[in-house]
Amino acid sequence: MELIWLDSRVGILSDRTNLGLIRFSKDVVLVDSGIDESYARKALKIFSLNDLNLRWLVNTHFHADHIGGNAFIKKRTNVQVITHVLTKPFVENPILEPLTLSCGAYPTDELRSKFFLAEPSKVDETFEGDGYLYDLQIIELPGHALGQVGVAVGDIIFAADSIFGEEILRKKTIAVYNDIDAAIRSLDKLKSFNCCVPSHGSINGTEIISLNKAHIEFVAEKIRLLMKEPKSEENIICDVLQNLQVDVADVGMYYLLRMTILAYLNWLKKTGEAQLYVDKGRTIWQRL
Ligand SMILES: [Zn+2]
Repeated sequence: MELIWLDSRVGILSDRTNLGLIRFSKDVVLVDSGIDESYARKALKIFSLNDLNLRWLVNTHFHADHIGGNAFIKKRTNVQVITHVLTKPFVENPILEPLTLSCGAYPTDELRSKFFLAEPSKVDETFEGDGYLYDLQIIELPGHALGQVGVAVGDIIFAADSIFGEEILRKKTIAVYNDIDAAIRSLDKLKSFNCCVPSHGSINGTEIISLNKAHIEFVAEKIRLLMKEPKSEENIICDVLQNLQVDVADVGMYYLLRMTILAYLNWLKKTGEAQLYVDKGRTIWQRL
């Protein structure tokens, strides 16, 4: 993990997931805590080496790779953990993340790995809506996860997973969303910032917003084309993944991609382009 300052107050703890850092004299706010204790340990070491005092931790959303270090940091420091009201129940009851991916059924062990299930920890304060927290600007950015927010200082925003770096989008993959309509609106909100810091991928200017939008439109168009005749939900998922040559590495990845493809289908239904019905024990999607 490496500390990179973007200006005199705002920095990034760069690793597989970028963590944000905002400094008020010696006190700092940490944005997200990484996937596990090892992440949190590295962050605390960097604070200690740089004579910085961790006062607040803001989680951008409830995914395990953003809250996994919370429990360790809580044990070791007097940090105040602050989240969106919708994120709090997931941080305090992390089984909710794999439970949602598993349609409410108690999740199998594949969904109870550290990639989906963090250690529980307490949230001290919550917020809701766009606004200010001390002098940090909080912007609601749903679409990738319920209750996701970005944290901004001036024209730099830690945009979490509302935006993905170019190198992530260029892979044979589908960016993960749970609500396509909200994801598009969130991308539009990012246009007022000059520098968007994604949690995954390198830092970008605003040109990355149009690349993320193009990715969504590309996937949506593929799904439209693959829906020429009515298909079961499972068949559409299979056709999309094969057509886009997505490398589905494991069961967990499949569940994330299934959620994403369902988000696209739900969006097409909302816009009047598709309908959903049940036939012979299968849900069938039909393009209108
Ligand atoms: Zn995420």
